[in-house]
Amino acid sequence: MRLIFLGPPGAGKGTQSERICRDYNVIQLSTGDILRANIKKGTELGKLAGMSINKGELAPDDVMIDMIKAELHAKDVLNGYILDGFPRTVPQAIALDDLLHEMDKKLDVVLIIEASTDILIKRLSSRRTCRNCGKSYHLIYNPPKHEDVCDVCSGELYQRDDDTEEPIKTRLKIYEKQTFPLIQYYINKGIAEKIDGMGEIEDIYHQVKTVLERFK
Ligand code: AMP
Repeated sequence: MRLIFLGPPGAGKGTQSERICRDYNVIQLSTGDILRANIKKGTELGKLAGMSINKGELAPDDVMIDMIKAELHAKDVLNGYILDGFPRTVPQAIALDDLLHEMDKKLDVVLIIEASTDILIKRLSSRRTCRNCGKSYHLIYNPPKHEDVCDVCSGELYQRDDDTEEPIKTRLKIYEKQTFPLIQYYINKGIAEKIDGMGEIEDIYHQVKTVLERFK
């Protein structure tokens, strides 16, 4: 199964992707997580993307397209994957179509998860992320068992620089302008499915599963 999770920052793409990976034998390719890991390691890619990430701006399309090419050619994606955070612009979506065509593969479904701006801001500003494995928590709705400690790997939890007020505003504006048009792009292809991202995590996952059962 190959799918894309599309939606604004804070809609729950990462949280839902974790559950899909657990139940459907696919892997999550979160471009944000990959970039953050590269920044931590100080790689060339990390340097190219670092400035944009901290300000809440998008990294350049060519950098992202090269990165996703490398990821999709890796062996561990053979059973399928969830693209979480890619594509985010029309040029990225077109490059992905070309790449899949070259690889003789196609997307099964694009899940479009929607939530109101109020909810997105509340979720992002209360989000904490593991410095070590990247898992996300919400201080109220999905807290860790022990304060500031990751349940999975005991890593330290921190607030991402881009989960603070100004970068959050920038990210939401960029989403509206550059990523929102992709919804129509995938509706036109007939592979878009909308998910209401306003409720509880498990209720949202129930909707996701109802869609995914068709592609098993
Ligand atoms: P995320 O973890 O998905 O919220 O992504 C965090 C940040 O990584 C974004 O605000 C961008 O700076 C960068 N990023 C992630 N994916 C992309 C992409 N597909 N295109 C451009 N920038 C991206």
